[in-house]
Amino acid sequence: MKIEQTSFNRYVKENVFETIKTYHLINPNDRIMIGVSGGKDSILTLHMLNKYKTENKVNFDIEAVCIDEGIKGYREEGIKTAKDNCKRLDIPLTVYSFKDEWHYDLDDISDIYKSTCMPCGVYRRYLLNKISSEHDCDKIATGHNMDDEIQSFLMTFARNDQNKFPKFSPILDKIHENMVPRIKPLWRLPEKDVGIWCVVNNIPIHNEECPYSVTSLRSEVKLLLNKIEEKEKGTKRNIFNSFEKTFKIKQENIKLNNCENCGQPTARSPCKACEITEEIKSKL
Ligand code: SF4
Repeated sequence: MKIEQTSFNRYVKENVFETIKTYHLINPNDRIMIGVSGGKDSILTLHMLNKYKTENKVNFDIEAVCIDEGIKGYREEGIKTAKDNCKRLDIPLTVYSFKDEWHYDLDDISDIYKSTCMPCGVYRRYLLNKISSEHDCDKIATGHNMDDEIQSFLMTFARNDQNKFPKFSPILDKIHENMVPRIKPLWRLPEKDVGIWCVVNNIPIHNEECPYSVTSLRSEVKLLLNKIEEKEKGTKRNIFNSFEKTFKIKQENIKLNNCENCGQPTARSPCKACEITEEIKSKL
């Protein structure tokens, strides 16, 4: 077990470090904000970036942010896990809630839209960008793994949303002065390996499913892909490799403006966060 654990850890570390190096995700003196939910993906990202900093002696700073959406009976445990891991690694953590920003919880608005994940995703992205920008961070690191990327890409097809194709990348460039670039160190790591790493290393994670996840298209796509993978091993990796070879769309072609309400970067003004906030206020 000891040898297996050692070789498995080496595989995970090499996979993540190679992605960081190949795609130049981190430069010396960067200040990186890690979005930590307490789930396995963000916790592995936290540990791997900390390892990368200490083992490679690259001089960069790490801090973490945990967004509290306001999901009663669910999010509390994730925040606790995020705090425990950050404390263990001595990484400063900021917890910021939807309520702090908009004065209501996700629970309060959960039945306004067909999928609760829609306003949740819009608000989370908004806050991640806002907070990392306020903290003068150069990049936001997220825990997106290989499975997440495949699901996202297939969802852009399902929605005929080709504008999102350039997001299929381990690094999203700075395409607007107020947009903090995103990096995805787990981009090439399958989801099941993320889970195994946490178990074999006895790392505390929040392992529950969000009660709203069943309302999303993503959960349907995930189920379907897992079903196909069970029958045809290697399907996910093949899809990922095909996407990687086929879609290299330049991010500089994306043009962003400032939202006329909040000033945040957006393709069209008002931004999606301001647009749904107006809708929500009229319905509450
Ligand atoms: Fe938000 Fe949906 Fe994720 Fe739950 S599953 S945290 S509602 S995006």
